[in-house]
Amino acid sequence: MSSDWFDRLGRNPHLLPPQARANRGSVAISKLLADRRVSERMPTAELARQQGSALLDLARHCAAASPHFASRLATAGLTPEALAAPDGLAKLPPLTRQALVNAGESLFCHAYPRAHGGISTTSTSGSTGEPVTVKRTELCTLQWMVYTLREHLWHDRDFSGRLATLRANISEAAESADWGQPCTFLFRTGAWSGRPASLSVEELCRWLGEFDPDYLLILPSTLAGIVAELERTGRRLPRLRGVRTLSETVSVRLREDVRRVLGVGVDDVYTSQEFGVMATQCPEHGTYHVSESILLEVVDAEGRACRPGEIGRVLVTDLVNYATPLIRYEIGDYAEVGTPCACGRGLPTIRRFLGRERNLVLLPDGTRHWPVVGFHRWGEVHTIRQFQFIQLDRQTILAKLSAPARPSAEQEAQLTRIIQEELQHPFEIRYAWQEEPLPRGPGGKFEEFLCRAE
Ligand SMILES: [Zn+2]
Repeated sequence: MSSDWFDRLGRNPHLLPPQARANRGSVAISKLLADRRVSERMPTAELARQQGSALLDLARHCAAASPHFASRLATAGLTPEALAAPDGLAKLPPLTRQALVNAGESLFCHAYPRAHGGISTTSTSGSTGEPVTVKRTELCTLQWMVYTLREHLWHDRDFSGRLATLRANISEAAESADWGQPCTFLFRTGAWSGRPASLSVEELCRWLGEFDPDYLLILPSTLAGIVAELERTGRRLPRLRGVRTLSETVSVRLREDVRRVLGVGVDDVYTSQEFGVMATQCPEHGTYHVSESILLEVVDAEGRACRPGEIGRVLVTDLVNYATPLIRYEIGDYAEVGTPCACGRGLPTIRRFLGRERNLVLLPDGTRHWPVVGFHRWGEVHTIRQFQFIQLDRQTILAKLSAPARPSAEQEAQLTRIIQEELQHPFEIRYAWQEEPLPRGPGGKFEEFLCRAE
């Protein structure tokens, strides 16, 4: 179906007439979409060759325009040519968040191509405190919009539908007659309504019931609360055709819950303020396809490239940002490398994104792995609505659980056995039960596993 998304674009009944599109400045976007149709079907080796050439151009520019990047290259004993050679990138030590903050103004390029448009500055506080400031060009924004549009087209969304958006960056209730950019560059769209994620779950469910959306754009943790509330009250969203998530990890369990309660799938997009859309879920197979202008490496504790099925740290390179050299930036997330996708797209794949280091379990021998806690098995023992595990030290985990009733001592012992088995270590599990939902962290995020051990 989606192999001909670009052909379908031409036949889309909501596509604006050519003159109206031109008036809205969609020429560059239309051209880039046509390019993306070609690039996503390229054999992986050809795409890698073109990306290598783009990396060489980027490295030459940044070596001349960014004192900090020039010094990084020199310290590693590299030239732009050596960096862009096969396996060259792996010789450059990653750029940490701290190093980026410390670099200050010396990081930014003092010149950049006029054709890339004006500069905007974006600051993200992140979850670890110190804000990171990155400069981006209009070309970066344009790429972001093109990937967003392509994601809509891959998933064959009906632009005449009603879109509800729930995110942290909406400060108050807002309504609009259309979905806004980038969709309005090309399409006539249905109505839009937005709410801040800070509202209570009850308020959000009431609003969703009234607005009756076709599509929902939402943070996974907010989605989890809404799904639980809708399931509890038996209310449904009858028009709903799809859910799009971003910004946080989507668990397998949440995907199952959404399918069961709302009857639709979740299409996740891996994005950040610094990089825009880094990876998009395949419409046919669910694996994540990495955007063409992004190099996304996954490396193990020793810095070696992970193989398919292995989990490691994510390093990101933005091939179009000529204002800030984001080259091998350690974004702080973990991911599992995917295998080539059967859909035929040559874009590299990531099987899943796993969140941050503090969301990994720490074993007594010092190794960390992604915590599987066996939630799908708990139902055999006791009804549990929500959980949060806090690892206190290398032997002890506090399990905070929201449940309609307290379990017996025997049930608790059964749960402990399941959790120990799934975590692959006989941790001491301490329980804290409550009937109310578990509270969120600062910024409205919710983390199911938090490691406080060292
Ligand atoms: Zn695919």
